[in-house]
Amino acid sequence: MKTILVTTVTASALLALLGTNAYAADSGYVPLRTELEKLGAKITWDEKDQTVTFKLGNGIVGFVAVDKSEYRLAGKTGKLPAPVKLVNERTQVPSSLLQSIRDEQAKYQDPKDAIPTFAVQASAETEAVDSGDDAADDPAIWLDPKDPSRSKLIATNKAGGILVYDLAGKQLQSYKLGKMNNIDLRYSFPLGGKKVDIVAATNRTTNTIDVFAVNGDTGELSSIAGEPIKSKMGEVYGFSLYHSLKTDKFYALVLGKKGEFEQYELADNGQGKVNGKLVRQFKLATQSEGLVADDEYGLMYIAEEDAAIWKYGAEPDAGSDPLSTVDIADGRRLQDDIEGLTLYYGKDGKGYLIASSQGSNSYAIYQREAANTFITSFTIADGAKVDGTSETDGIDVLGFGLGQAYPYGIFVSQDDANYENGKKLHQNFKIVPWERIAEGAASKLLLDNTVNPRELINRNK
Ligand code: CA
Ligand code: CA
Ligand code: CA
Ligand code: CA
Ligand code: CA
Ligand code: CA
Repeated sequence: MKTILVTTVTASALLALLGTNAYAADSGYVPLRTELEKLGAKITWDEKDQTVTFKLGNGIVGFVAVDKSEYRLAGKTGKLPAPVKLVNERTQVPSSLLQSIRDEQAKYQDPKDAIPTFAVQASAETEAVDSGDDAADDPAIWLDPKDPSRSKLIATNKAGGILVYDLAGKQLQSYKLGKMNNIDLRYSFPLGGKKVDIVAATNRTTNTIDVFAVNGDTGELSSIAGEPIKSKMGEVYGFSLYHSLKTDKFYALVLGKKGEFEQYELADNGQGKVNGKLVRQFKLATQSEGLVADDEYGLMYIAEEDAAIWKYGAEPDAGSDPLSTVDIADGRRLQDDIEGLTLYYGKDGKGYLIASSQGSNSYAIYQREAANTFITSFTIADGAKVDGTSETDGIDVLGFGLGQAYPYGIFVSQDDANYENGKKLHQNFKIVPWERIAEGAASKLLLDNTVNPRELINRNK
């Protein structure tokens, strides 16, 4: 409190010296709340951070902060001619911002522009992680080749390790390994003359990519790291594996807190351990985490959290420019942060790209092939036994029969706020039978249960 008072006095004294009084409502400024209310926007004032977030009727979101000459609107950052001010507890903004907001408000007014959304319920959830606050982060579904009903969920606790669950959500293993952020897996990695299923994750404690072999019977993981794969970036964050069906090489794809991207080729070091060699790096403008590779098409998708989902080539020689923008975080289908990304592999190269829209507690589904056309959004609502999800980080999906309980596979989602009988527990992961999503959509989605992730096909021939 003291600091704020001192700052105010100093600023006023300075303004008095300059002979102006910027605190009076002058002609260049308009009261933001009053104007937004006229437009029917939803407004959220954050007292602590002194920020205003608003959502227009068409879904577009905006954001300003007191004392800042910058704003966010429709997923982009803009400059203001003067800083946002707080006068008599009312946020005042330069009037040019109001014009930009009106321009956005005028878009998407046709009823056909409405975003189709539906709700599903989860049928199961994992046991809660053993760390409080924001801890559970990213799940990966491992398919048991002998008995798919015994498949496992392998997930990160970013406060301290990796967890393994069965499909009923029971915790089978817990490894204290450091701040494991994002995780992914691939099948049939050649190691020591055998084929092993590998799991790898970004470790923010050691700034490395850690690699493990999966023992499917027990769900046990064992480290197969050779030389530690130390990242060059400031802090490792997002992660995906990529198995090139063109060259049969395996890669670790890594994103950093400052938008850095690194690609490592993973290979047997001759002693039955895995080494990584840096083969590509580039940088996005801002923090990026969600990352998924399409092994069949040789593509990868990156979620720049506050900005957009970008499509890139996944081969190491694919350069540093995106092939296209899948969608932007303007608030309609994606509201920042854009978090987890995952791919549903359907027959004949069809399928879906699914993204967690953390700011709107929803998931956006896009066509996997060709231009990644948007299809629908959905939410996971409270059910009788399992609560719904909010502010989701990581997600994974598998469209393959996983036994009686999940004949069409599952969608797995981290949940920021896990409740049981009205009581808040530590975070966990929710499991939704895929058919609930496929059949819940206004135009039915694919119900393929035959695309085995161990038998993918190169579609770039
Ligand atoms: Ca979180
Ligand atoms: Ca994030
Ligand atoms: Ca953010
Ligand atoms: Ca919840
Ligand atoms: Ca995350
Ligand atoms: Ca729960």
